[in-house]
Amino acid sequence: MSEQANNTSAKPGTAVVTGASAGLGRLFADRLARRGHDLLLVARRGDRLDEAAKALRSQYGVTVNTLVADLGAAADLERVAQAIAADASITLLVNNAGTSTLAPVLATAPASAQSMIDVNVTALARLSLVALAGFKARDRGTLINIGSVLGFHTLPISSIYSGTKGFVLNFTRGLQEEVAGSGVRVQLVLPAATATDIWELSGVPVTNLDPAHVMTAEHCVDAAIAGLDLGEPITMPSVDDYAPLFAAYDDARARLFGASQNGTPATRYAGAAR
Ligand code: NAP
Repeated sequence: MSEQANNTSAKPGTAVVTGASAGLGRLFADRLARRGHDLLLVARRGDRLDEAAKALRSQYGVTVNTLVADLGAAADLERVAQAIAADASITLLVNNAGTSTLAPVLATAPASAQSMIDVNVTALARLSLVALAGFKARDRGTLINIGSVLGFHTLPISSIYSGTKGFVLNFTRGLQEEVAGSGVRVQLVLPAATATDIWELSGVPVTNLDPAHVMTAEHCVDAAIAGLDLGEPITMPSVDDYAPLFAAYDDARARLFGASQNGTPATRYAGAAR
């Protein structure tokens, strides 16, 4: 389907968007097509991807391909990884697909727990690595990983989801260190509550939240892309005084880590029984 795989650096290239059948991913696809990116859209619901592809082709005149895949299934994930590895026109990957079940762990079906880990962690890591391999070889490309503010905050109903997003946070920050000084960029986006289907699917309808705390999906994606344009490594769409708050958070994190590099038990454990 793709006739657009030539190597012209003036073109924005192909953007891969996972979870492009709904919510934030559908809007990332729109905004990236508007900027002239050709697209490869990934999700399970092929009918929705086809609708999106048709609309985006007609509105923006870009090439849009679709790949129906369950990123929680190893064979499908591998198919997507191979498609990314094989396409040198890819300049951007948005690892957006995600799933959430919000419930105490003992009330969470094992399959739902596994699915969060498979999609939010395993798939995101695999696709990050395969995309980065190509980007590094070409010294050009942008990886956008969608985390969550629940990556540094956890609730009695979000242990697994928060755990998966904690992985996205630490993993993506590590990748940023790895690509520093190269032509490759890695952006971490940490949305707070945003009005998409994920809430209903998680078991907590968005109507249960204080509307004042809920952002529109359009605002979230537009802020994420504005953050990308500003060169932000980490974009928190809803945080106004981000710079001082994040500096204080990160400084405390670094100081705590530094204090752990000590080689001896802390004095409060000096009298501990053996
Ligand atoms: P959404 O409306 O539920 O969309 C999720 C997307 O992921 C859909 O396109 C879905 O497509 C895809 N997806 C889910 N499971 C998949 C699987 N196994 N294989 C392939 N695709 C799969 O949710 P959203 O709010 O836009 O979420 C996008 C990202 O933002 C997620 O990573 C989420 O954790 C994160 N986030 C959301 C919020 C929020 O409040 N909305 C806040 C912080 C972070 P199919 O069902 O067609 O497969």
